[in-house]
Amino acid sequence: MLDSPVLTRGYNFMMTSELQQISNQFLMNTYARLPIALVRGQGCFVYDAEGREYLDCVAGIAVNILGHAHPGLVEAIMRQARQLIHTSNLFYTEPQGLLAKRLVELSFADKVFFCNSGAEANEAAIKLARRYAAKRFGAERTEILTMTNSFHGRTLASLTATGQPKLQEGFAPLVPGFRYVPFNDLDALEAAITPQTAAIMLEPIQAEGGVIVPGAGYLKAVRELCTSRNILLIFDEVQTGMGRTGTLFAYQHFHMTPDIITLAKGLGGGIPIGACLATEEVSTAFEPGTHASTFGGNPLACAAALKVLEVLIEGGKLDHGRMIGDYLAKGLATLEEQYTCVTQSRGLGLLQGLELSVEGKPVVMECLDRRVLINCTMGRVLRFVPPLIMTTTQVDRLLSVLSGVLSTRT
Ligand SMILES: *Cc1c(COP(=O)(O)O)cnc(C)c1O
Repeated sequence: MLDSPVLTRGYNFMMTSELQQISNQFLMNTYARLPIALVRGQGCFVYDAEGREYLDCVAGIAVNILGHAHPGLVEAIMRQARQLIHTSNLFYTEPQGLLAKRLVELSFADKVFFCNSGAEANEAAIKLARRYAAKRFGAERTEILTMTNSFHGRTLASLTATGQPKLQEGFAPLVPGFRYVPFNDLDALEAAITPQTAAIMLEPIQAEGGVIVPGAGYLKAVRELCTSRNILLIFDEVQTGMGRTGTLFAYQHFHMTPDIITLAKGLGGGIPIGACLATEEVSTAFEPGTHASTFGGNPLACAAALKVLEVLIEGGKLDHGRMIGDYLAKGLATLEEQYTCVTQSRGLGLLQGLELSVEGKPVVMECLDRRVLINCTMGRVLRFVPPLIMTTTQVDRLLSVLSGVLSTRT
């Protein structure tokens, strides 16, 4: 044991093959990983165990919005780590109070609950909506409508909310009280509402579902439907939030406000943190003892998120990300015109997708060979969720590599 290279030399000295071997032997088999091991990141680049450099257009799946090793974020994390990493929610801490205040100032919401992930943020939203509806309209009002092909997480309730039977396979019995309707279909949604409907939960743009942007007016009409029927509207902004789509929150594009939103992915810039934001009225359904999280909102995670918000807003990276998103969207639209294997380019800000008429996985692998990391969802949709700090030169490199790979398919 004492001769282990990890103990005597620190980390980052294992080759990819060794890492693959121990990971496959000791980790549960839940991920289909690409055959590279990453050891370091800087800006929009990551480096593997053999020292090769990759342009990172996945960014931890829309997490590393300030890229890797952002000096201000690293400094904020180190400063807070030296002072106080964790206390529990038995006590007040400054980073948690300040982060809640900042999120409220920047959104429609009045109150915040902190947790550690997207799935947990959605659990909080579901519990809050059910408790609110039960208190306000009676115990039978428990049902939540969600969308086909949605993604809300992997815990049991968030998995039940996720409208994808293939992800639910083998986990029965699921949580009662969920029903699914097609996304972007107002008539189907209206028809599905019953006196038991407590809330409608959806992603303003379906991300995992293939980067689906709803038609103009849909979300506003959903808001009006919810208001007229006394139903809560929950937006899962775990992926779309934190500047990903060009505004701090995606709902801000659509001239309406939901009652509850959930955040996670980009919020801590890589440090795990989730949040559930709600209006004053809705949030009164939670009282001491009704919901909790040991790690939720701990000082380290909140200090990181405060720095992320500061860099986005005061540091101008939100505006920069919107500009780069437009630049990427134009480039992807050109690829759509150029190659018949591209069926459609679509997206908002730096959540962009390219739907292909061929399988996406081989395209991802060929981009990897050319040192560009991209992602594929729903089999045939290439997804691009780079850091908001990406430069036009880096976008040009992505587009030129994509063009090279796609040109062999037309
Ligand atoms: C990633 C994601 C989740 C789940 O987040 P975890 O942190 O993995 O639990 C939930 N909703 C959406 C929209 C997501 O993209």
